[in-house]
Parts: sequence; structure tokens; C-alpha cells
Amino acid sequence: MEARSRRPIIAGNWKMYKTVPEAMEAAGDLVGLLRPEPDVEVMIAPPFPALYPVKQILNGSCVRMGAQNVFWEDEGAFTGEVSTQMLVSAGCSYVLIGHSERRRYFNETDSNINKKLSAAFLNNLTPILCVGETEEARENNNTFSVLDKQMEMGLLGLSAESLQTLVLAYEPVWAIGTGKTASNEQAQEVHAFLREWIEKKIGNKLAKSIRILYGGSVKPNNIRGLMAMPDIDGALVGGASLVPESFAQIVRF
Ligand code: PEP
Repeated sequence: MEARSRRPIIAGNWKMYKTVPEAMEAAGDLVGLLRPEPDVEVMIAPPFPALYPVKQILNGSCVRMGAQNVFWEDEGAFTGEVSTQMLVSAGCSYVLIGHSERRRYFNETDSNINKKLSAAFLNNLTPILCVGETEEARENNNTFSVLDKQMEMGLLGLSAESLQTLVLAYEPVWAIGTGKTASNEQAQEVHAFLREWIEKKIGNKLAKSIRILYGGSVKPNNIRGLMAMPDIDGALVGGASLVPESFAQIVRF
């Protein structure tokens, strides 16, 4: 695979943290810290109630906004769910799909994830599909078979054309919120596997252009080593994205 020419993305997942005023304050601080504009794409994913007010703060800045989840139907009697159109109308341009916390605590299946991806593509939301193995799977040498299944079932029936905007995030479950980061080499090995997977199953063009982010305890002190790997095109950051100063340091790796 030739040298990377893909624009990195640094994405912040705020999970279920921050009230509306707290989110607005953090977004304002981040916008201030990111002047002059960095040479990477920056995205934050606040909790649902904060989306619209945070967008008002981000307008005119380089920071894009994403949601942490979405439902696949356009509208209807689905109490508690949120559609892609609602997210777009609140100012989102990205959506996280299949985060391991959703798979684990909310029984999100690969088939649900597949429907969410289709809905995102239909409504011009850029999906960030999260995949990753548990500690047990890694210890039993099942990392690649787990990823193969998540990719195969998650992308089932989606055409190469619709996948053009897809972003992948490799997030080993054992590294999320644990302080244990995959080594640069461990992460690179999986990113290369995912890129080859795309090349074999979808095509060379997408394999070259797709951005594959690493997620799992990314901090200001480990981002540079990860970003030096040829197949790592950015980061999905949880804990460290909650503090504008540390997220801004990651953005300026
Ligand atoms: C995440 O939530 O996607 C994540 C990677 O979290 P953390 O950076 O806290 O490990």
C-alpha cells in the first residue's frame, strides 16, 4: 500500500457526559483553542440534548459535529429514538455507529448496525463505523475473525458507491476507557488488515481513500506514535476529549 494521502480526522466522543451548559462551555473553549485552524478534520459528538446548542457555538469554526447513535427509521412511533434527518437538522455531519458500549450495554447487533449505516448514507450523514475485539477474543487469537464478521455483516448489501464516505474506527474493547492503549504496532497490524479487507471485498479505490481511526485511551502523550503508522488516519477519543485543552493537544499532534 502506498504512502498515506488521506486527511486525518480527530473525533471526540463525549459519551454521556456534560449538561447543555457544560457542553456549550467546552465547545466554546475548544473553538478558541483551535485557532489558527489545524490541518486535520475535527469532530465532537456531544450527547443528544446538547447537539443543537453546541452547533450554534461551532458555527463558523473548523469543528464539525457528530452524534453518538441514530435509529434507522425516518420517523414513527419509536419512543426514545432519533432519526438521521433529526440529526442533520440539529447540525450533525457525522454519526458514530456500532460503538462497543452500544453493542455491549444496548444489545446492538451487526444487523442493526447495517440498517443504521444504510440510513446514514441515505441522508448524507458520514458514518464512523466502530469495530473491535474484546480482550478475550484477542487472547484466544480471534481478533481477525471477530473483525471479519463485524465488517461482513455491518457492510452487508452496501454498494461500493454508497461506502465512499464511510469512516472506520478500530477500537479494541480492552483499550476503551481502561488506560491500556494498543501498541502502535498492534494498532497498525489491525488497520492494515481492515484496509486489505476493504481492498478484497469492496475495491482498491476505497481501500486507498478510506480513513481508519484508532480509538482506545488516546491521550496527548500517545497520539504522535499512533499517527506515525501508515494506516492510522486519525483517532476517536473518549475520555481525553472531555477536556478541551487535552483534546486540542491531540488535534495538534
Ligand atoms: C471511545 O469512547 O470511543 C474511546 C475510545 O474512549 P477512551 O478514549 O476513553 O478510551
